[in-house]
Order: sequence, then C-alpha cells, then structure tokens
Amino acid sequence: MYQLKRHLPELFELEHLISRAGSDVRFRVLTEIPHQGQALPIHAIELGSRAPDAPSLGLIGGIHGVERIGTQVLLAYLHSLIMRLRWDESMAEQLKHIHLFIIPIANPGGMYLNQRANPNGVDLMRNAPIDATSHVPKLLGGHRLSRHLPWYRGKKQCPMQPELQALHDYMIQHLNKRPFTITLDMHSGFGFNDRLWFPYAGSVSPIRDLNVMYRINRLFAKTFPNHTLYKVEPQAHSYTTHGDIWDLLYDHNLQQQPQSTFMPLTLEMGSWLWVKKNPRQLLRYHRLFHPELPHRQSRILRRHYSLIDFLMMAARGHNNWMKTKPEQIAKDTRAALKLWYDGAAK
Ligand SMILES: [Zn+2]
Repeated sequence: MYQLKRHLPELFELEHLISRAGSDVRFRVLTEIPHQGQALPIHAIELGSRAPDAPSLGLIGGIHGVERIGTQVLLAYLHSLIMRLRWDESMAEQLKHIHLFIIPIANPGGMYLNQRANPNGVDLMRNAPIDATSHVPKLLGGHRLSRHLPWYRGKKQCPMQPELQALHDYMIQHLNKRPFTITLDMHSGFGFNDRLWFPYAGSVSPIRDLNVMYRINRLFAKTFPNHTLYKVEPQAHSYTTHGDIWDLLYDHNLQQQPQSTFMPLTLEMGSWLWVKKNPRQLLRYHRLFHPELPHRQSRILRRHYSLIDFLMMAARGHNNWMKTKPEQIAKDTRAALKLWYDGAAK
C-alpha cells in the first residue's frame, strides 16, 4: 500500500475523487494490470447522457507513464466537475445532452514505474496493429528491435498489450451507433508549442473528415481569439509513426459507420515551455515531461480548461456548426487542404 501511494499517487487521488462523487457519476474498471503482486486498475469515469446516440467527448491521459501532467490535468478537471455538479445547474443541464467519459490513467503500470512504456516495455502509442503507409523515422516511428529501446512496438503477431486492448474495446463499444464523438488524448513532449494533433499519425494523406477538423479549428479561433496557444495540425506533420491506436479506431469507425463523425485529437503539451523557465529540469530526463514548481503546474492545469470546455460545447452543438451540404463540405475541404497540405491531397 505504501509503495502504491508513493509510486502512483494519481491513482489514490482518482479513487478518492470517485468516492466523493454523486450518483450522477458512473465509473467502471476496464481491466486490471498485474504488477509486482498488485492489480492496478484502469478506471473509466462516465457522466451525462446515457442515450447511446448522445454526442460524446472522451478525455484520456497517462498512456505514456512518464507524462503525468496529462493525468493531473484530467484529475483537476474531474475534481471541478464533481464540485460543480453539486450546485451548478447549467453544468447539469449541459450534461443531459452530452456523454462525457474520462480515462485518466490509461497506463497505470508505466506510471507506477515512472516510464513511458508499459511494464512489458511496450510503447502503447506504437502498439496498435496498424503499419504506417508513409515513411517513418527510425526508432522514433516504432520498431521491433528490443523492449530495452524506447518506442518499442512489441512483437509482430502478438495481441495488443492489455492496456491498449482495454482502451480499444471500450472505444469500439462506445463508438457503435454514436453519431458524433471527439476524444482528447493528453500527452507532453519536446518542443515549445502546445500542439493539437488530428489523424493520421501513420500517413501524410488527409483524413476524410478534414472539413470537420477545419470547422473545429475555425470555431475555436473565432470563439477564443486570444487563445493562440495551440498549433493545430495533422500528427504526421510532426513525425509519422506505426501502431497509432487513434488511426486504427478512426479507420475502423470510417468503415463501420461512415455516416458518423469521430475526431480523435491528441494534445501534445510542449515541455520546453517549462524547461525554459527552470533549466534544472534538463538534468533529469523524466522531469522534462512534467513541470515541477506547483504554481507552474496549476497554470498548466488552468490553461487547458478552455479547450476541454470548448470541445464539450462543440460536441453538444455539432449540428449548429457542422456543414452538411456537399458544396459546403467541398469548400471547407479545399480550404483545409490549402491550410495543412499546401493545397493538394498527397
Ligand atoms: Zn506521450
């Protein structure tokens, strides 16, 4: 118990929050990861509408165990949701029309060990059974050489790792017959910018729903004109990878129910923003992914609240801003190709 509290305080905080939540907050354990004689649960928290066709927002954190800040942003968000639901009627009203799910600690074993990969040494963002169709950078793009090197995909023909399988199965069930879903998967990495990525990770080709992403980007910029925080782009613009779970799920949804919209987003918080102000962090690798000073941490928590709230409102009101006429879709697609792909589909 002491070891668990010391190595994975986020799980304690999450279970404490769950115990304080009212009956309008549902929770379940997707699976348990055996680790050093313990069973580490992967929790999913659900709020809002139970209608299977309600629009949905999903928030995922901690797929990379060393990137704890994403998990902490989600715990802080969940905390404020639980508190607001006790008195804020507008929040209760909002949640009648939307389904919200949060998976704050998707890789509890990796977080326990303070490492990027899961306890088997597999990078869960390289482990989905999907190969990139564009050229990938060596190692970083995913490899099968050794579990002792970062970005290891796992052995070929092996099933997905249990953490990823649990996320995958949950998402497949969730997406079934649901007309509109946005997910935000929280990461932190190198760089000065906070990046907001959309698929594909494994291909430099544009997604079918490029027009929807164009609208979301425009809507956010127009609604929050002072929020020039995020660099919005297809993930493959930064680097191409094998085995991206969101590519797999996006394509799955496209095939199974082409009439619906699923937009999986990844927030990559730029950790050099933190290092710049506290160069001592460079001395310890794992701290690069995690801001150390408490005031800086609360600022990071605060600065992404607007994005999460915006995505929730955008999901709920998607019928008000999504374009449905073919000529409008074509026009937005052309504008998006110009913005992100130099005008041409590759
Ligand atoms: Zn990450």
